[in-house]
Amino acid sequence: MNLSYWEIKTWLTDVDFTIIGSGIVGLSCALELRRNHPKANILVLEKGLLPQGASTKNAGFACFGSLSEIIDDLESHSEDEVLNLVSKRINGLTLLRETLGDKQLDYKPYGGYELFLKEDEALYHKCLESRNNINKLLKPLFKEDVFSFKDNIFGFNHIIDQLGYNQFEGQIDTGKMMASLLDKVSVSGIKVLNNCYVNALEDELNSVEVITNDFKFQSSKVFVATNGFASQLINENVKPARAQVLITKPIKNLKVKGTFHLDRGYYYFRNIDDRVLFGGGRSLDFKGEETMEFGETELIQDKLEELLNTTIIPEQQFEIEHRWSGIMGVGNQKKSIVKPLGNNIFCGVRLGGMGVAIGSIVGKDLANLIE
Ligand SMILES: Cc1cc2nc3c(=O)[nH]c(=O)nc-3n(C[C@H](O)[C@H](O)[C@H](O)COP(=O)(O)OP(=O)(O)OC[C@H]3O[C@@H](n4cnc5c(N)ncnc54)[C@H](O)[C@@H]3O)c2cc1C
Repeated sequence: MNLSYWEIKTWLTDVDFTIIGSGIVGLSCALELRRNHPKANILVLEKGLLPQGASTKNAGFACFGSLSEIIDDLESHSEDEVLNLVSKRINGLTLLRETLGDKQLDYKPYGGYELFLKEDEALYHKCLESRNNINKLLKPLFKEDVFSFKDNIFGFNHIIDQLGYNQFEGQIDTGKMMASLLDKVSVSGIKVLNNCYVNALEDELNSVEVITNDFKFQSSKVFVATNGFASQLINENVKPARAQVLITKPIKNLKVKGTFHLDRGYYYFRNIDDRVLFGGGRSLDFKGEETMEFGETELIQDKLEELLNTTIIPEQQFEIEHRWSGIMGVGNQKKSIVKPLGNNIFCGVRLGGMGVAIGSIVGKDLANLIE
């Protein structure tokens, strides 16, 4: 692309900080950099017309782990590590709510539930038995009991009639969150260039050469916030993980209200605008879903529809309105990677399935890697 004198001078000269990726991490990083460096020239580069990863695709659960997930984590992590993970999610959600406000997020404190399939009786009993210990473990963070059990008042079928309940879980409107973040970034004088794919980064002594599909320029520091696509640019242990979702048309007298996890969190659903938004099923084909390509498969979409019919809204007529997917970044550990990669390049990636919760704080920590 042959840029004009004006384009080069206005957008690509004397760039202090370049952030790659305009998801929740990239935008939160940009805002924190602005807070710390009011006069800096800050640029965000995004390959999509809109953010094209996970931040505009997700289910909008403001959650920090179901009972069975925490029990699971305790099998591979120490108590301190699990407490650290949970506290990061709480701090991240607090920061997100403080930064944007509950109205902008359309935050609804409806609570979160865990459903146990009839064939998962052993898991249900394990959760029942571990509940007091987990509540005790989390007490320093929440000051109150987090987990209890409630009757199935939602008309779910084929499940054990007691649902795990988390009184601190909420839900947000993902689109409103991202639109507000983008507004805030724009008002802060940060430039965002969309449709700009970064191909490579050359770390030099005092700056980085940023090579995009269309042009090259120098930036003093570069922050990589590309999550599931990280391995295209940097050499870190992050694998892509596609997650598929569907949404129904509005349903009259819908009983579903809250955020719900099913089958150890492999499936998740919530109410939004009198509809059910339902996602998951990666466990049916982990290998096939380890991809950076967006798309839906019959295997997973059929299973989602079947579970809606048999288990989630068995007594109500519904139609599917729309289906989509997003790409997450996962690895062999749940901890995100936030670190310097050289003289002038830094990364904040591998957010897993919890980026709504931890994205703000990962972005902030990423920005604070520099003085
Ligand atoms: C279907 C689904 C449901 C989810 N549900 C929840 C939930 O309910 N609660 C929760 O906490 N989390 C959820 N998550 C996870 C959460 O959405 C992510 O963890 C979070 O959005 C990650 O944010 P990010 O900024 O790190 O990455 P992303 O949002 O993926 O942002 C990375 C950005 O980098 C851009 N990019 C990549 N490579 C390049 C390049 N070379 N050049 C320029 N730009 C590039 C991408 O286009 C993308 O916009 C869900 C995820 C999915 C997919």
